[in-house]
Amino acid sequence: MGRHHAIVGGSCNNPRLRGDAPCGETSSMADLMQKRCLYCGTWNQFPEARLADGPKCGECKLPLVAGPPAALDDAGFAAELARNDGTLIVDFWATWCGPCRSFGPVFRQAAADYGVRVRFATIDVDTVSGTPQRYNVGSIPTMMAFRDGREVDRVIGGLTGAQLDRWIRGVAGLPPLPDKPRPRPPRPGH
Ligand SMILES: [Zn+2]
Repeated sequence: MGRHHAIVGGSCNNPRLRGDAPCGETSSMADLMQKRCLYCGTWNQFPEARLADGPKCGECKLPLVAGPPAALDDAGFAAELARNDGTLIVDFWATWCGPCRSFGPVFRQAAADYGVRVRFATIDVDTVSGTPQRYNVGSIPTMMAFRDGREVDRVIGGLTGAQLDRWIRGVAGLPPLPDKPRPRPPRPGH
């Protein structure tokens, strides 16, 4: 097998049989993570330890990871709504609600992924009553999307990550991601 095939196939040369260097610096490759920029579609690869430093997309320079959703009360929600700054997505939930707890990590992941451009918040219906009543939130989890101070869509019940991804891109008006190749995954131990 020639060198070209080895690169395309993502396989490693055996340094015992050939004089070539093995696949990268294996010891430091082990903790590399890949994250796709959800705004320009570029795959970025960086050491997992750098996650806390706020890694940015190598192409469009937007941060790759955003902070957690804001836990809002009625006043906080009113303030967020009044900002009229793009799309605001709110997850209405409660601690005793099993489906809410299942959906929580999915929602938090979406906030980390999309929170650079889209605002994410949670409202605990046990401790906050005005906003859920105003929007007639009858069952939880309920997710609502707001633009320009108005509700534009709502989803009752939890979603999978892929479903939530599609829904967010729709309500936030994000175009489909360009088809960009994923980099070869790190192959620790090769
Ligand atoms: Zn980007």
